[in-house]
Amino acid sequence: MVISFVFIRVYKAKIKGYIGEKQVSKRLRKLNKRKYKVLNNVLLKTANGSTQIDHVVISIYGVFVIETKNYKGIIKGNEYDENWSQILINKNENLRNPIKQNNGHIKAIKDLIPEIRYKKIKSIILFSKRARLNVNAVTDVTYINKVNKIIKSYKTKEYTIEEVERIFKKLEELNVNSFKERKAHVKNVKRTVKNAEKKLKKNRCPRCGGKLKKKKSKYGKFKGCKNYPNCTFKLNT
Ligand SMILES: [Zn+2]
Repeated sequence: MVISFVFIRVYKAKIKGYIGEKQVSKRLRKLNKRKYKVLNNVLLKTANGSTQIDHVVISIYGVFVIETKNYKGIIKGNEYDENWSQILINKNENLRNPIKQNNGHIKAIKDLIPEIRYKKIKSIILFSKRARLNVNAVTDVTYINKVNKIIKSYKTKEYTIEEVERIFKKLEELNVNSFKERKAHVKNVKRTVKNAEKKLKKNRCPRCGGKLKKKKSKYGKFKGCKNYPNCTFKLNT
């Protein structure tokens, strides 16, 4: 199960996301194989269930954890926002801030591989050309075709060759390969989405169950959880 709350739309976007992931895998294959070890579609078991990571690239220049999105429209958001907006011609939608989502993936890796717990892992968020990015973030948020350029822009040695080998092997071992377990993961995600949808229909916070209240800020109208600041769930309306 994904640790974070997942919107139903995110699930529907899975198929499109798959196309995006393929585009990224293709580009990552062009990296020098001796320098960069690539793992695609990694499913890891975590304390809360499981988490799926689109791509992990391991090199002496760092460990890169990549999340790919294939949304269209204008994508607007900031580093620390809970949700980002997808602005389409006739409507706005919410998507969970992919930086936060990917931070969850990074945490899962750190929890499972103590060796890199205190090292910096680089997060990269990629969007396909269907999107127009209007994002203000420290984390790399860019287009799929820029992925190798970004990875290669890191030139400081941070890991030894032995460490790279060990981390790669460890992740390969931890990656859940069985069809049965992968299917169980998808089922759990579906259930989480369903539960969240149910709560939203009842005007309840999908994260803590608290009532949702209409609020207004200088950025516009939104719905927030009554348990703020303990719960920071927000929904743009
Ligand atoms: Zn809440």
